[in-house]
Amino acid sequence: MKLVLIAPMNGGKGSLARGITEKYGIPGISTGDLLRAEIANNTKLGKSAKEYMDGGKLVPDELVIKMLFERIGAVDCKNGFILDGFPRTLAQAKALEDVTKIDAVVHLDVPDWLVKARAEGRETCTADACGKIWSKRYEGYKPGICGDCGAVTKKRGDDKDPASVQKRLDEYHHQSGSVLKYYRDRGVLFTTKVETMDVVPAETFKIVDDGCLRKLGGRFGK
Ligand code: AMP
Repeated sequence: MKLVLIAPMNGGKGSLARGITEKYGIPGISTGDLLRAEIANNTKLGKSAKEYMDGGKLVPDELVIKMLFERIGAVDCKNGFILDGFPRTLAQAKALEDVTKIDAVVHLDVPDWLVKARAEGRETCTADACGKIWSKRYEGYKPGICGDCGAVTKKRGDDKDPASVQKRLDEYHHQSGSVLKYYRDRGVLFTTKVETMDVVPAETFKIVDDGCLRKLGGRFGK
């Protein structure tokens, strides 16, 4: 099962991807996470990407495409994968289609006000084994500490500054329209609206699973 998730930042892609990985046993791949790992490891790619990411801009297509293709060529992707944050541009979508067929594209349609409200409170657990994303409004939220595993939580650099959030949102709207149309025209797009501040990942997962994934699961196996 090869899936693409499309949503603005703070739209719930990460939680949805984790739910799909748990049920269908296919890895979630976030290009944002891959890029942040490159930055943390101080690689050549990381150094180039940091400039763009800090400015709320997209990293150039050729860099992200090369990085992503290496990742989906790994052995754990042989039964499929869930892409979170890729493709973000039409050029990326076309490049992906040249190397593999995408079975479904799940689009979480989240209004701008909700994206901004969620960005204000978002903290991510720093423990690799957990990685839970917290919002101020979640039950069990504690500032700076993961309510699940007790590790330190951090705000992401690009969530701290409202101007950067707005820039990423503008970029998202600018780029996602053509990508969504591309997949709609191919008949693989599944859109669901997310309208509440209190995100309930299990509910979003159920809507997507019932409306789209279980059909694919039957057709393609786990
Ligand atoms: P994310 O964690 O998906 O919100 O991504 C964080 C940042 O990484 C984005 O704002 C971009 O600067 C960069 N990025 C992630 N995925 C892509 C992509 N597919 N194309 C270009 N830039 C990306």
